[in-house]
Amino acid sequence: MSMTVPEMYGSLVFNDKVMRDKLPKDIYKALRKTIDKNSHLELDVANAVAVAMKEWAVENGATHFTHWFQPMTGFTAEKHDSFISPVDGGEVIMEFSGKELVKGEPDASSFPSGGLRATFEARGYTAWDPTSPAFIKDGTLYIPTAFCSYSGEALDKKTPLLRSMEALNREATKVLHVLGNTEVGSVTTTVGPEQEYFLIDKEAFAKRKDLIFTGRTLLGAKPPKGQEMEDHYFGTLKPRVAAYMHDLDEELWKLGIPAKTKHNEVAPCQHELAPIFDTTNVAVDHNQLTMDVMRKLADKHGFVCLLHEKPFEGINGSGKHNNWSMTTDTGVNLLDPGKTPAENIQFLVFLMAVVTAVDNYADLMRLSVASAGNDHRLGANEAPPAIISIFLGDELTAVLDSIENDTFFGNRQKVAMEIGATVLPHFYKDTTDRNRTSPFAFTGNKFEFRSLGSSLSVSGPNVVLNTAVAEALSEFYEVLKDVPAEKMDETVHGLLKEAIKKHKRVIFNGNGYTDEWIAEAEKRGLYNYKSTPDVLPVFVEDKNVQLFTKHHIFTESEIKSRYEILLENYSKTIHIEAKTMLDMVNHQFMPALLETLDKALTVAAKKKKVCESISCKTETAIIEKLSASYDAIYDAVQALAEDTEKVESMSDELAAAKFYQATILEDMSKLRALADAAEEMIPDGVLPYPSYADILFYV
Ligand code: ADP
Ligand code: MG
Repeated sequence: MSMTVPEMYGSLVFNDKVMRDKLPKDIYKALRKTIDKNSHLELDVANAVAVAMKEWAVENGATHFTHWFQPMTGFTAEKHDSFISPVDGGEVIMEFSGKELVKGEPDASSFPSGGLRATFEARGYTAWDPTSPAFIKDGTLYIPTAFCSYSGEALDKKTPLLRSMEALNREATKVLHVLGNTEVGSVTTTVGPEQEYFLIDKEAFAKRKDLIFTGRTLLGAKPPKGQEMEDHYFGTLKPRVAAYMHDLDEELWKLGIPAKTKHNEVAPCQHELAPIFDTTNVAVDHNQLTMDVMRKLADKHGFVCLLHEKPFEGINGSGKHNNWSMTTDTGVNLLDPGKTPAENIQFLVFLMAVVTAVDNYADLMRLSVASAGNDHRLGANEAPPAIISIFLGDELTAVLDSIENDTFFGNRQKVAMEIGATVLPHFYKDTTDRNRTSPFAFTGNKFEFRSLGSSLSVSGPNVVLNTAVAEALSEFYEVLKDVPAEKMDETVHGLLKEAIKKHKRVIFNGNGYTDEWIAEAEKRGLYNYKSTPDVLPVFVEDKNVQLFTKHHIFTESEIKSRYEILLENYSKTIHIEAKTMLDMVNHQFMPALLETLDKALTVAAKKKKVCESISCKTETAIIEKLSASYDAIYDAVQALAEDTEKVESMSDELAAAKFYQATILEDMSKLRALADAAEEMIPDGVLPYPSYADILFYV
């Protein structure tokens, strides 16, 4: 039985159509009100929804339900309960109540809380997020939820996201109203995350401890061929990969995830998938689900899907592009320049709110993409630099220049630009999207934040973006709120002018990969946080604590706890990498080197046995080289082992993280350089794990 794509699409989702079909009219209306207007959900409504949801789920083969949530691990969590409920006569019926739908009480004690839980209680609560639809996966009804502590502190990535969407909604609506656009009832943010990933052979993966334990290779000489031929990007899909992508699309479509684009990426074995954008919290849920399905489905096709930011040295790593915009409930994209003067003003106000936000909170934006894995990419000429700047394109920059200097803006049609009087040119993507080196680029009707690592939950960057823009809008509102209508254009002009003057330093349209830009950015006073431990402390800086508490995104204790979790997570990641590397070098690499040395020694000894005077020139050279390598590697192993022990006894979390960054990573890179050079002397088949060439060119 084969389904058409429209039949398949969303077939496992409790979406609006199913709700309309399955729910009594008044219940449907009440639920819609909760979804659209955030109104309180009465228990009798919840009960009716639960019954309909269960019936639909059971019809579609589900036996269990789960509250699906996003703890601070960055992964998703789920605990499955069956619908069964015993009745007389040893039989069961399938049951599901409104209470079970709305609230869960998973044991929270094994999830990271950064000290929050110790002060409160081990119990955590999950609360249904009705704005993200429930779905069925592997015989279970999944209910998207937020996760918090007994006393209401957020323990997850969804709660602050919903709070930040609310803050932006509040501030954006106020500004629209004061600009005269009073029909707008609400503003939501939209996100389209483009996801990169690697597919490698399952058998190869299973033989590499580094991939198994850390998600990336810690050793491995470069293959004779890398990505220099540039023959993989947009290349034809190999049949096995094509089959995987085909199944992936179908699985995602069934879950109502609008997978749209797929292609090969720059590196061998690297691919990309992009969905059509959606409301931010739905897009975040969908991206988590996409990563999950990608991993699980890979197994069925004999692959492992690597989502690490840097699986292979010398080969481009994987990122994620967070396309972001704001839309009104009247259907207007606020970052679309529009075609009339009124739309233009509105656009420029929202554009400058974003510019203001990014300039004021570039440190938080950098923080939001910081991780041990992503540190390998940012600033390494394969991803944007660690400096956050904005690409606007020449046309838009010229518009801002003309506002700042009260000059006329001559666009292609040579129309004089005067705020509120003339129409801005429409910005086409092809004129603005050329610069791939910018971390934050305007691409016609949205911004594309390109600094995210591939495994990151897109929640964090959007929390920062939404909140920072909400703050800029609230400042604008303060300036505009009491201005009489006849003075509005003039006041807006003044406001824009001032914002441009103050924040234009963050706009940069040039090549972000150059050393000149780094020097220039420093002159402009822009932040340049090179590593995760460098940037993490900005989380707890006054200005940032004020931002988050003012808009009710995080309490002070939530910020502290998240800061602790991030620090700990960074150190633990590198700790595991160091231990894994020591294990591989001690138990696999050095024995292979010894075996190679032993072969050379045996040949030399055998030769001497045949004839005392025979030359062993080559063997001697090889023996000397191998033996020198062996010594150097041994020393490097000792250094790494000693430093790893040293850091274990450090009690200051920040100092430890910095030590991991400055010392342990350095030890690891020295050891790796020695091992990778020595690998070339080891014959094929002697190392017990596959080489880079084996992994990257045999799918
Ligand atoms: P590219 O970046 O490769 O040029 P597109 O511009 O087609 O590709 O889209 C990239 C992503 O941006 C897609 O996921 C798309 O759905 C998303 N996108 C488009 N418009 C918006 C918007 N208004 N808000 C958020 N994301 C958007
Ligand atoms: Mg893109």
